[in-house]
Amino acid sequence: MRQLLTIGKYFKDKFGEKVYKIPISISGFTCPNIDGTVAKGGCTFCENESFSPNLTDKSKFKLNLKSNENPYLEKQLLQLEYQFKYTKERLENKFGAKKFIVYFQSFTNTYAPLDTLKALYEKALSFENVIGLSIGTRTDCITDETLNYLEKLSKRALPNYLLSPTHSYKNYEIWVEYGIQSIFDETLEKINRGHDFANVKEWINKTKQKDLLVCGHLIFGLPNENQEMMLQTVTESINLKIDSIKFHPLYVTKNTLLAIDYQKGNFRPISENLYIDTLIKSIKMLPANISISRVTAGIGNDSLIDPLWCNDKHQQMKKIKSALFKENLFY
Ligand code: SF4
Repeated sequence: MRQLLTIGKYFKDKFGEKVYKIPISISGFTCPNIDGTVAKGGCTFCENESFSPNLTDKSKFKLNLKSNENPYLEKQLLQLEYQFKYTKERLENKFGAKKFIVYFQSFTNTYAPLDTLKALYEKALSFENVIGLSIGTRTDCITDETLNYLEKLSKRALPNYLLSPTHSYKNYEIWVEYGIQSIFDETLEKINRGHDFANVKEWINKTKQKDLLVCGHLIFGLPNENQEMMLQTVTESINLKIDSIKFHPLYVTKNTLLAIDYQKGNFRPISENLYIDTLIKSIKMLPANISISRVTAGIGNDSLIDPLWCNDKHQQMKKIKSALFKENLFY
């Protein structure tokens, strides 16, 4: 039986104990694929304010990307602090958690003036017991300037109290999480992604040249894609030398462009069997140094339209683990 390198195992091996990611959602951040900079409406599967006015940030402010001035920064920093402290306390009380990564998760977290990003990232790294950052973004929303800055952060030494006598890590852990989704431009166009695969390649390569850690997000079951295409996306992602990977099935939720396509009969979601089979084949292709950050996703509320097997992540995990077990793989 081979133990797979999950992201949890990666952190435990490197830091000697479990590291907890704390997800953060900052008001004012949006996405160039929603605000009209590269497209409108967002990716077809994304539930956003184009369809759900109630998702619009209640504070109604948006960052002005053309200006370095940010009148909302104080508010954003407070939000970051509040969200971090709330989750940290919960994790400490429940699991005795001692090390954390601040995960800028919602929307596009490099889509802001660099001074704003610096203020937020510095604040996040200043919190007690934080050993790094994970920044979710798009490959068309990163710049050389931002990468240079992140490279400097990744070379910054951790405070002494976070070091270990038994493990040799020294610096902050800086991850950039990019949506790859598919290597096929016709698919990216179909889901209104707003960029092509050449852009993904260019910026992942640049990120890796800065020695930053990259996690790639892939979606199985995209419109008109068969298993061969999905596996080609996995192969190309491996060739990009990403450090970690997230697999995700495409499901249809209410208030999305995909829901309209689905209702017109123009989109059929992936079956559970095909998803699991593609996933197992993909995991078997991964080199031992690529950690697995996620093997599926579920949505347990009534916004899910189809496929209904996506509403029970617990059941999915059971089936995935048992399929892996048959291949002598332990997750
Ligand atoms: S890039 Fe992310 S936030 Fe932007 S439209 Fe696509 S899914 Fe939504």
